[in-house]
Amino acid sequence: MNRTMINAALIVLCAVGSSPARAAGEWKAGAGTVVITPEQDMWMSGYASRKAPSSGKIHDLHAKAIVFEDASGAKSAIVTTDLIGMTKALSDETARLVNEKFGIPRERLMVTASHTHCGPALGGNLEVMFDLDAEQARRVSEYTEALPGKMAEAVARAVADLGEATLEWTQSEAGFAVNRRQYTLGGVVLGVNPIGPVDRSVPMIVARRADGSVKAVLFGYACHNTTLDFQQFCGDYAGFAQAHIEGASPGTTALFVSGCGGDANPNPRRTLDLARQHGNELGGAVARAMREPGRGLDGPIRGQFREVALALSAPPSREKLEAQLADPDVYIQRRAKRLLAEWDAKGALADSKPYPVQVWQFGEGLHLIALGGEVVVDYALRLKHEFGAEKTFVIGYANDVMAYIPSLRVLREGGYEPDISNIYYGLYAPWAPTIEETIIGTVHELAGR
Ligand SMILES: [Zn+2]
Repeated sequence: MNRTMINAALIVLCAVGSSPARAAGEWKAGAGTVVITPEQDMWMSGYASRKAPSSGKIHDLHAKAIVFEDASGAKSAIVTTDLIGMTKALSDETARLVNEKFGIPRERLMVTASHTHCGPALGGNLEVMFDLDAEQARRVSEYTEALPGKMAEAVARAVADLGEATLEWTQSEAGFAVNRRQYTLGGVVLGVNPIGPVDRSVPMIVARRADGSVKAVLFGYACHNTTLDFQQFCGDYAGFAQAHIEGASPGTTALFVSGCGGDANPNPRRTLDLARQHGNELGGAVARAMREPGRGLDGPIRGQFREVALALSAPPSREKLEAQLADPDVYIQRRAKRLLAEWDAKGALADSKPYPVQVWQFGEGLHLIALGGEVVVDYALRLKHEFGAEKTFVIGYANDVMAYIPSLRVLREGGYEPDISNIYYGLYAPWAPTIEETIIGTVHELAGR
C-alpha cells in the first residue's frame, strides 16, 4: 500500500468510525436485573484454600439481561451474572425457560459469568475444589437449582422493558489487567508477567433511548475478576464497575461480560480499596465513552450456536487412576474418585467435552463472539486479527465454564491454566493440541467465512 492508498484508507476508516447512530425504529432494547445474592451464608467458589463459608456481603450479586429486538421482531438476549462460572446444565435450562416463555431460541441466548471469586459455589462447577458437609452441599444445590429461574426472570424483565432504541458500538481502555503467566527457570508460575500478552480494550454496546440517554450498556474486560479473596459476597472489580456506571448515569443498566482474561489478573490486588479502584477505572472508561456517540449498529442479528466436541489428550489407565486414590494431593485423590465413578457408570472415560461456540453478527458492523471456558488472551488477539479489531467483541466464560481454554502456545508452555487447573475442573488430561484450530475454525464456520 502506498502513502496515497493509506491516506485514502484512513479517510474511509474515519468516516466509518464517525458515522452517526441509526435512526430510531430499527431496534428495540430492554434490560432487567434480578438480585442473586444467596439469602444465607454459604460456601464460596474460586479458591480451594477457603476454610469457612461466607460472612455477609459487600454488595449484592446480580443476574442481568439485555434483550435486543431487530426490525424483523426477532429477539436476542444476553444474561450476565456475578458468578464464578456457568454450567451447561444451567445455561441449557435457562435456554429452555427463555424459549418457552419468549420464543427466543438457543442460538439467540448467551449466558455468561463475571468470574467473581467472591460468589457462591455452584453445583457442577469446580466441584473437585470443595469437600462440603451435608448442610453446605444442600445450600449449594438449592442455590444452583434456583438459578435458571432467576436468569429467566432477568430476561422477562428485559422483555417487559423493551422500547425503541438505537444501538451503538464503541471501545475504550482500562489499564489494570496484567498477564499472570510468569516465566521462570522452573516453568511457568502464577505471578506477574509485564511482557506477556494482554487485551486492555473495553468493548461495549450502548442502547440509547430517543432522548439520547443510555438505557443499557453491555461492556467487557479481559481480566480475572480476582482482586479479592475474602469471605464476603462481592462482584469484585466487575461489580464495582457496574455500580459506578449505574451511579454516574441514573436509569442505565450496566452489564459486565468477561473477555478472554483466562491468563490475566488485576494488578495490584487483594484489598477492597483496589477492587473499588479497578472498578472505578473500568466503569469510568465506560461512562466516558458513553457520552460520545458510537458507531451505529444495523440489524438484523444473525445468531449461531454450536457445541463442538473438544478433544482431550489420551486418558490415564485405570491402574493410574486407582493409584491416584492414594496420591498425597487431596485434589488429585478427589478427581480420581470422580473419574473412576464415571468410568464405572459409562464403561469408559469420554475422550472429549462438549464446547459451546456462539457468534452473533449485527448487520455488517459487529461480530459478537462468545466462547465457553476460561479463555486465554491469545484467542481474542487472533480473532481480532482475523475479523478486524474495529468490529469484533469477544466474550469468554459463556454458556459453560468447564475448564481453562489454552491456546496452542499456552498448552505447549504448560503451567496452571493448561495443566494444574484441570485437577479442579475434573479433567483427566490436558486438552489435545487441536484445541485452538477446532475453536477458531468453528467461529469462522458460524460466521459464514
Ligand atoms: Zn479462573
